[in-house]
This record gives sequence, C-alpha cells and structure tokens, in this order.
Amino acid sequence: GSTTNLNSDEDNINVVVRVRPVNDQERSRGEREVLEFPGKGQVICPGTAPGQKHKEDVLEYSGVKRLLEMAVEGFSCTAFCYGQTGSGKTHTLTGPPGLVERGASPFTPEHGLVVRSFVYLFQLIRDRPDCHFVLKASFLEIYNEKVIDLLNPGTVKKPLQVRWSKDSRSFYVENLFTVDCEELDDLFAVLEEGTRNRAVGSHSMNAHSSRSHTVLSVRVRRDVRSERDVTCSTHGKINFVDLAGSEMTKRTHSTGKTLEEANNINKSLMVLGYCIAQLSDGKKKGHIPYRDSKLTKLLADSLAGNGVTLMIACIAPTRSNLSESVNTLRYAARAK
Ligand code: ADP
Ligand code: MG
Repeated sequence: GSTTNLNSDEDNINVVVRVRPVNDQERSRGEREVLEFPGKGQVICPGTAPGQKHKEDVLEYSGVKRLLEMAVEGFSCTAFCYGQTGSGKTHTLTGPPGLVERGASPFTPEHGLVVRSFVYLFQLIRDRPDCHFVLKASFLEIYNEKVIDLLNPGTVKKPLQVRWSKDSRSFYVENLFTVDCEELDDLFAVLEEGTRNRAVGSHSMNAHSSRSHTVLSVRVRRDVRSERDVTCSTHGKINFVDLAGSEMTKRTHSTGKTLEEANNINKSLMVLGYCIAQLSDGKKKGHIPYRDSKLTKLLADSLAGNGVTLMIACIAPTRSNLSESVNTLRYAARAK
C-alpha cells in the first residue's frame, strides 16, 4: 500500500489516495496490482508490506498532522475515508479488523490514523504548557439517515436529532454523549467503546458496516492567558469519518427496505460529493446543499468557512476492482 498526495497548494479541501496491497485471496486467484500513476504529484508506488513505516507514512504524508495543528488553533477539520467496501477505509483509520476492540492502548504499529492522531494531538498539547486545553470526544453512526450514539447503545431504538444552533451557527446532535478527555487513554477508550458497540450492536448485521457512516469527533478548546490576565479561547474540532462503501451509490435498483437504505446511503454520499464539488469550484459560489443529508449537516463547518477537509480516497489495486477504483478517483477528482 502507499499514499499519494494529489495537492499542489494549500486548499480548503485536500485529497490523498491510498492503495491497499494485494491480499492473499486475490493473489491465490492470480490477481496482481494493475495500477500505475505516472506524473508529478500523482505517482502511487507499488504495494509494500504493511508495517510501521507504512502506517507512519499515512500520518506524515496524508496531511492529517496539519489538520490536527489547525484543530488546536481553533479550526473545524475533517478527515474522511471514501472508497468501495474492502478498499481499506477502516484499516486506514483504525487498523486491521478487531484490533481496536481488543484495546487501543498502548498503541502499536498496526493501529491506524486515528490512534496516531490522538498521540500527536497530545504531543501538540504538551508543546503548549502556556495554554489550558479541554478535549471532548463523541462517536456516532449514521445508518439509513438515523443518528445512533456509539457511546450510548440505547439510541439504536431511539435515534438522535440533528439540530441547528443559532449561537454557534452550526449543526449539532441533540443529547449526544460527550466524554471529557484529560488523558490520551480517555480518547483511546472512546474509540474502543464506540468501535465495539458498532461491531456488536443489536442493529449490527453482516453488511452493516459497509452501509453506515461513522463520525468520531474531538472538540479542542484552548484557553490562552494574555499578559493582562485576560483569557481568550479558541474552539477547534477534528472529525474522523469512515464512510459507507461507495459501491452503495449504485444500488438503487433494489427493492423494499434495501431501497430505502440504498437511497439514504446514496443521498449522504451524493450530497457530500455535490457539496465538495461546489466548494472546490472557485467560480461557482452558489448554494451549498449541506441541509440535504445528516452527514453534510454535521460536516458543514469543516467543509466551508473556517474549516479544512481531507479526503482519503481508498482504492484496491487489482483488475477486478478497477471500475470501482475509477469511480472513486472520479469522485476524488471532483474535490480538486
Ligand atoms: P473497508 O473498511 O474499506 O471496507 P477494510 O479496511 O476493512 O476495508 O479492508 C479490507 C481488508 O483489507 C481488511 O482485512 C484489511 O485489514 C485489509 N487491508 C486494507 N488496507 C490495508 C493495508 N494498507 N495494508 C494491509 N492490509 C490492508
Ligand atoms: Mg470498513
């Protein structure tokens, strides 16, 4: 696997592409990596074995470090993984299946971007002993346009409402459980608990994780005491988003409940793509339809205005996945 940055300058919305390695199953079928990305800023190296170097590359080169630095400075930031089921979205964010559920702390080279980001966040905090920080974390799932609190399994039966706050001029989830995180282990615990609930929830089914979006958010309040003893605060945020499989956008010809599901998943992904395309097109400063899906409501402040968004486009390297990979790259290209 490898990560490539496709950006020429510092934009509001950045895109990186990550190609996972060929897996054993594919290799046993005689499949191999068929992707080549020639040209400046577009080269994707052939797959290498997973490991520490590989994972640290993702944190170094994906631009997530910059997002975390900006969250500490008071910006709203989002890193989201987009791609077909099996392309490596969850692996990129949290690591191999089951790893986080078994314990996020102490972190290992196998842990993904989220755990590494938590460690880096606390490093940034330690670097500013002159400031006081308050971190609050939450973890939710959007399934079939219903918001479920992954830290409060009771909400499976009673989904939460997304509301508009006049005061903060942003959308928020009413009654969402938020955890005060004074230590790194508190953040790990949120990740662990939410991931476990996602896996074992009563609503859980085989294909469930490919149909739902998860949003893990860390709010960062920073209080700075000035010389005259006046305290100024900044309010930043970082969201880590694991999107539903992008192949879902095409499954609109199914019937019954699946149709409703497909339409709703379709809706969030399509609205997200549409918002990003609108925002990226500097000439078109028209209406951005954030309100058209739960996902875009929650990401609105990081997509626009005072925010920064990173899209990690995940693709599989083999021929049988080619058409989905091309779709993902097209979606990514719209963001540029
Ligand atoms: P998705 O979340 O997009 O459906 P996963 O993250 O579950 O896909 O990845 C599918 C499988 O491929 C998992 O077994 C995962 O561990 C493996 N995998 C994905 N990306 C990598 C990678 N970069 N290195 C090694 N294995 C990977
Ligand atoms: Mg996944």
